[in-house]
Amino acid sequence: MSVTVHIPTPLRQYVGQAETLTIEGKTVGDALHKLTSQYPDLKKHLYSEDGNLRSFINIYVNDEDVRYLERNKTPLKESDEIRIIPSIAGGSAAVAPNVELRPDEILRYSRHLIMPEVGMEGQLKLKAARVLTIGAGGLGSPLALYLTAAGVGKLGIVDFDVVDLTNLQRQILHSTETVGKPKLESARDRLKALNPDVQMELYDAKLTSENALEILKDYDIVADGTDNFPTRYLVNDACVLLGKPNVYGSIFRFEGQASVFGMPGAPCYRCLYPEPPPPGLVPSCAEGGVLGILPGIIGVIQATEVVKLILGKGEPLVGRLLLFDALRMSFRELKLRRDPKCPICSEHRTIHKLIDYNQFCGISPQPQEKLPSDWEIDPVELKDLLDKSERIFLLDVREPQEWQICRIPGAHLIPLGQLPANMNQLNSADNIVAYCRSGVRSGKAVDLLRKSGFQKIKNLKGGILGWADKVDPAVPKY
Ligand code: ZN
Repeated sequence: MSVTVHIPTPLRQYVGQAETLTIEGKTVGDALHKLTSQYPDLKKHLYSEDGNLRSFINIYVNDEDVRYLERNKTPLKESDEIRIIPSIAGGSAAVAPNVELRPDEILRYSRHLIMPEVGMEGQLKLKAARVLTIGAGGLGSPLALYLTAAGVGKLGIVDFDVVDLTNLQRQILHSTETVGKPKLESARDRLKALNPDVQMELYDAKLTSENALEILKDYDIVADGTDNFPTRYLVNDACVLLGKPNVYGSIFRFEGQASVFGMPGAPCYRCLYPEPPPPGLVPSCAEGGVLGILPGIIGVIQATEVVKLILGKGEPLVGRLLLFDALRMSFRELKLRRDPKCPICSEHRTIHKLIDYNQFCGISPQPQEKLPSDWEIDPVELKDLLDKSERIFLLDVREPQEWQICRIPGAHLIPLGQLPANMNQLNSADNIVAYCRSGVRSGKAVDLLRKSGFQKIKNLKGGILGWADKVDPAVPKY
């Protein structure tokens, strides 16, 4: 039988820009097999590694959805028309015919069910959907809470962290009571209380190149709530390799970004950022701070995109980067283009499997280069010297807002960035001890000053946190 296959726009690049192709085939499976043998590049966009048609690809024969039929064996007649419909606007969850809602679920989701855009069909899609969130922190909190409330069928969470008091300013999944407990345990209890029907899969692990494909493969959509570059590139690459949508969000201080990567024919994270910034250039939230509400806003945008993809409604943030500025209370949108030379999602790809992402991001597996031990001083040793009234110039290289939280009595504040221009305030004849929060920034200050001829300068080991631990418990830690 000779049939016509209609190729959707995003997949045309894999078939020489053809809109339609004539293929011989007795059944749908037969025709698709011939199509992908003729155009091997198309194969990974249509089929997953286990040989099943990807969950966001639908096949229609003469305008009839054959999703619930034995698609592969559906016979074809001469001049039948096959349409490949990828879920550009969604439809990621294929609903099994026997899934339905119980009366109490109908009541629970009634405000969804009476909306024409959701309705029974949409709620069943949500119930069939499997979503993985990476991280149960700032972005993961609103993501997990709203997806659980919305009634997604299966929610996976990857996290290996423990709830810390400093998390509670923004990570609303956790509570004062769960400080010290694993985040997964804390999240599970909170989410189960919200909606016991959601099947939860908890991965008490760091996402790595070794486990990522195995964990991600069981999900329809991945929501990236990570806070570091190696994991971001890892999530991106794993999603592209598996053909999964990657709902992206990131936050810093008052600003956030969101987009949807990894859709067929659409840009990925590497198309936007081919390479990470060098380590240390972009501070993490732990170093630079973040407005507690910000991950709420960005995480809720991610959750909205996840639900839209599942429902197949609206215009997803595909090929668009949404920028949010909380200080101006403004949203801006940038158009994203696919990088024709993207190393993972283009035809010229050079990455065919997951790589070492720490190395890619310039993070060495060895601990940071250490200062010689005689350039360092222990907090207890410093206390002894100060008690003996030794003349010591205490140099605090933190930022003014950190100085307001706590300081060592008698210290002088010169933030690290202003140190090169203010060296004249220091006397190289003095015994100087530099400190910061944990000892990293002051280590750089010591290195800088030693190179400038200061020979009597030392770094306070462990920073003011070490001072609080070993000398003065009244100094607040932050
Ligand atoms: Zn790309």
